[in-house]
Amino acid sequence: MSDPNCIFCKIIAGEIPCWKIYEDDHVLAYLDIGPLSEGHCLIIPKKHYVTIDQMPTDEAAACMAVVPKLSKAVIAATGAAGWNVLQNNHQVAGQAVDHVHIHIIPRNDGDGLGFRWPAGELDAETAKSLQSKIAEQLG
Ligand SMILES: [Zn+2]
Repeated sequence: MSDPNCIFCKIIAGEIPCWKIYEDDHVLAYLDIGPLSEGHCLIIPKKHYVTIDQMPTDEAAACMAVVPKLSKAVIAATGAAGWNVLQNNHQVAGQAVDHVHIHIIPRNDGDGLGFRWPAGELDAETAKSLQSKIAEQLG
């Protein structure tokens, strides 16, 4: 469950160093070396999955279980006013390394970060169709 060409797998294997801040049997967390803000860190599963939909529920749960306590620690350590929890899947969504990772990004007023959120409107016909299609996929 590791990819020899994956930089995050190399970090897990200890072949590439990292600024580790948390580790358990399933999860590793460390400071992002290209931080968007002070305290920006990554939570990754120790097994190689490209996108979150590939993960067994228990592996995903193990990663998500770290989010509250690591958020609390990072925000307490940095004094940030807020934070984003971000998880990108595929290049089109901003994924730069093909190994699942969850970003914790501390935020402050005037930090210059942001995202476009061009909200549309959901009409009933589209909603009904999507609800049905998604429910069908969930089985
Ligand atoms: Zn990997």
